[in-house]
Amino acid sequence: MQPFVQDRRQFMVGASLAALALPAAARATLAQASGRKTRHVVLVAFAGGVRTRETFGSPGNVPTLEALAKEGVLYKRVKSSNLGHFGAALSIFTGISEARGIRENARGTDPTLFEYVRKDLGLAASDVWISTSGGAQQTNYSYGLHPDYGARYGANTVDGDGLFNAEFKSILETWGRPKALSQKEAELYARLRGAIGSTPGGALNNLENSARIEQYILQELTSGTADIRGANAADAKAIRVARNLLVLFKPKLVGIVLQQADAAHGSFNGYVEIIRRNDEALGDLWRAIQGDPQLRDSTTVIVLPEFGRDADLNSRRGLDHGDGSNDLEYVTATCWGPDFAKNRVVEDDVQAIDVCPSVCELLGVNAAKARGKKLPRLYA
Ligand SMILES: [Zn+2]
Repeated sequence: MQPFVQDRRQFMVGASLAALALPAAARATLAQASGRKTRHVVLVAFAGGVRTRETFGSPGNVPTLEALAKEGVLYKRVKSSNLGHFGAALSIFTGISEARGIRENARGTDPTLFEYVRKDLGLAASDVWISTSGGAQQTNYSYGLHPDYGARYGANTVDGDGLFNAEFKSILETWGRPKALSQKEAELYARLRGAIGSTPGGALNNLENSARIEQYILQELTSGTADIRGANAADAKAIRVARNLLVLFKPKLVGIVLQQADAAHGSFNGYVEIIRRNDEALGDLWRAIQGDPQLRDSTTVIVLPEFGRDADLNSRRGLDHGDGSNDLEYVTATCWGPDFAKNRVVEDDVQAIDVCPSVCELLGVNAAKARGKKLPRLYA
């Protein structure tokens, strides 16, 4: 992996790397609580409605997920929570079945995984992130409104498509030269800063973190994230952002929410292409983890869609979601990490809401309000 370009900005990027590194001792202290090897968790909502038929049911579509499963645990019957994209994906993070309208744009009242982890482990904002594929709705995954939890324990939100687009690249040119920002550039810069760390107590509210985050933005703008194209561009950006966050900040928890597979409503072929490309992007993420000595033996990756899709094609040769079929209601979850069993396939029925309490248990945290159970037969 070569995330950083070697050009005239090398000095700047190098300086940021030094600033971003946290003392190993500080990490080690936090890590011991659970008695597990896992120090970092990446939880991917491979959302947008993805059937098992097009993932594990179609050899060659998802080589990354297949490789993860071979070295981890595969749950073949994961019951999704409900049929709306927003509520179903939220349920993965709260461990509670969330009935939500598909266009609803509001925070829930239930705490999220991010809040449990930050509160119980006393983590800083820079230790818990969520990287989304786009849309204001997805910022609601970062925290809920429960009085015991809420914004002060929320995840930093980075919206890859909103933030790392070509428009912002021009700012970089200015930053690279000692000259004042034009008014337009200053406005872009303000928007860029505003797009991340928007939670109270978020990374940008702290001077030290503020400098780190700004350097991080530079990393993204120089490492090609803004130039990602293709049918899954927004999803791929979300994955790339998470990869770079992971490598730079070594956070405790990174959530990723994808969504573009929902193109399936209009095109089955387009949907399959997005699944394949997203698997490829997850492959980059996985390789980055394996190539990093600080992450390699201490990072857990969990991937699951929020629900599947209908059993049969619609009149546009696409796939909707609403027929109540097994294809729709059951998805496959892939769990890989140093504490988990290898090459184990679990056929028992489990639920998407089991993921939140299972991740919490792994990290030694209590998912106090979650209603899911611990995933069975997960550990080695
Ligand atoms: Zn849809």
